[in-house]
Amino acid sequence: MVYEKFWSENPLIAKNKTEIWKLEKDGLKIFDDIPHYAANGFDSIPKEKWDMFKWAGLYLQRPKEAGYWMMRVVIPGGILTYDQQITLANIAKDYGRDVYDITTRQAIQFHWLTIEQVPDILNRLEKAGMTTAGACGDITRNIIGNALAGIDPDELFDTREVLYDVFEYFRLNEDYSNLPRKYKMSISANIHNASNAEINCVSFNPATKVIDGVTEVGFHVKVGGGLSSVPMLAEELDLFILPEKTVEVAAAITTIFRDFGYREKRHRSRLKFLVADWGPEQFKEKLLEYTGPLPEKGESAVKGWNAGYFYGIHKQKQDGMNYVGVNIPVGRLNPDEVIEFAELAKKYGNGEIRNCNSQNLIIPNVPDAKLEELKQESIFERFPYQPKKFIGYSVSCTGIEYCNLALVETKNRMRTISESLDKEIDLDVPVRMHMVGCPNNCGQRAIAEIGLQGIKMKNQDKKMVEAFEIYVGGTLNEGGKFNEKLKGKVEAEQLHHVLKEIILFFKETKLLSETFLDF
Ligand code: SF4
Repeated sequence: MVYEKFWSENPLIAKNKTEIWKLEKDGLKIFDDIPHYAANGFDSIPKEKWDMFKWAGLYLQRPKEAGYWMMRVVIPGGILTYDQQITLANIAKDYGRDVYDITTRQAIQFHWLTIEQVPDILNRLEKAGMTTAGACGDITRNIIGNALAGIDPDELFDTREVLYDVFEYFRLNEDYSNLPRKYKMSISANIHNASNAEINCVSFNPATKVIDGVTEVGFHVKVGGGLSSVPMLAEELDLFILPEKTVEVAAAITTIFRDFGYREKRHRSRLKFLVADWGPEQFKEKLLEYTGPLPEKGESAVKGWNAGYFYGIHKQKQDGMNYVGVNIPVGRLNPDEVIEFAELAKKYGNGEIRNCNSQNLIIPNVPDAKLEELKQESIFERFPYQPKKFIGYSVSCTGIEYCNLALVETKNRMRTISESLDKEIDLDVPVRMHMVGCPNNCGQRAIAEIGLQGIKMKNQDKKMVEAFEIYVGGTLNEGGKFNEKLKGKVEAEQLHHVLKEIILFFKETKLLSETFLDF
C-alpha cells in the first residue's frame, strides 16, 4: 500500500499518528462517513476518528465526551448573500442554541450541534451554495479577502473573481487535502492591508508593474506568516503576479508546502517554519521550478494598515452608493439579529452582508436616497456604526465556553470589560484589544495594541485561578511588529482594574490623537 512505502521512506513521520491516518484515508472522505455516524449516533464514532471530522469543519467542543460539535462554515472573502444569511440564521436557531459567531477569518461558527443534525445542516448549506470543507483541518482554510472588494473606492482592483477562482480550485481538491497542517491564504487589493497580509501563510497583496510599457495591476506575494505560539511575520518574494496567474502560483506554493513542509512534529508543521529555514530567495527559486519564469517585484500599492475596521457610512466606488460598517461586539449574534441584518440589507441594499476579519460586518450597496431612512433603524442602537473606543475595537477567540484548548473564559469577559471601560473612560482614539484563551492565538493577540492571553496560575491562597498575561504594542504597520509581554501576571478578577489603570495613565500622559501604539 502506498502509505507503507511512504512510512518506510519517512520513518520520522511514521511516528506521527495524524500523518499515519491521513495517508490511510483522505480527510475529506469523512463527508462519505457522516450519514452512517449520524444514523448510529455519537457513540458509534471511534475516538481515533474524531480529528478527521475537522475536514468537514467540525470540532468536538468541550468536554469532547459530551458529543457536541462546533461547526465552521467557509465564507470566501466574507461575502454572504441574503439567502445564505437566512440559511445560516435558521441553522443557528434550529440546531445551534441561538449562537452565531463571526470569526477572525470572516467565517461563521455554530455550536452545540449533534452528529444526528449534521446531514441536514450540510444539505441546507449546500443548497445555499456554502460548504464546511476547508474550514478546519490540514487543508487550505477560508480565504481572507478585502471585505470591500468591488465597492472599495481605493482598491487597486476588484479581487472577487480571483478569490473565488482560487477557492474553487482548492475546494474538495484531494491533491491538496493532506497538507502538513492548517494553511491560511489571503487575496486582497485593499491598499490598507485590510487582510492582515503578514500573518497569513500566503498573502497576495496589491501591486503594480510596468510590463512592455503598460502599467499592470496584480500582486506581490508574502509567505510564511502565522501566529499560534510562535508568531512569525510573512516574508515578501521578489515576484509580481498578474491576476490571471494567481491560481497557478497559489497551487505551486501549496504544492511546495505539501511536499516539503515539515510533518514530523505538529507544532513545527506550518509553512512559516519552512520559509524561516529556506529564506525567501530559496523559496522563490523552488516556486519558479513549478511556475516557470515570473516577473520580479514592481511597486507595492499598500499604504499603512487597517485591521479590518470599516465603521461609519462611506461612499463606494459606484456613484450614489454607500456602505455601512457596523460593530458586532466580539463577533457574536443570535439568529434573530442575523435575520434582522439580512432584512435590513435587502431593504436598503442588495441583500449582501460582508463579514470583516475584525469580527464585525458591512452592509454594502445602499443608495444615497435610502441613507437617511436606514440611519433611523433601531438595530443601530444595539449595533452602532460609530461604536465606542473599546468595545468597537475588541476581538475575542472562543475561549473556555466551547474550546478544548482554552485555559480561561474569553468572549463574555472581553465584552464586559470593554463595555465597562467605555463607560468609565472617554478617549479620543480607539484601543485595539484582543483576548485569547491560550497561546494558540486564534483571536490574534500578537497584533493587538493590548493583547490579553489567558493562563492558569496559583493565587496567594495557592488556589489555581484564571489569569492573564498582558502584551502591548502589536501592529502590522510598516511590515509589522508583534506585541511584547509586560512583566507579571494578572488574576482574571483584577484584569478590568489593571486595564483601567493602564488606560487612564495613557489618557493622562498622551498627546492629542496619539494612539496607544505610538505612546
Ligand atoms: Fe481555543 Fe486557544 Fe484558539 Fe482561543 S486561542 S479558540 S482558547 S485554541
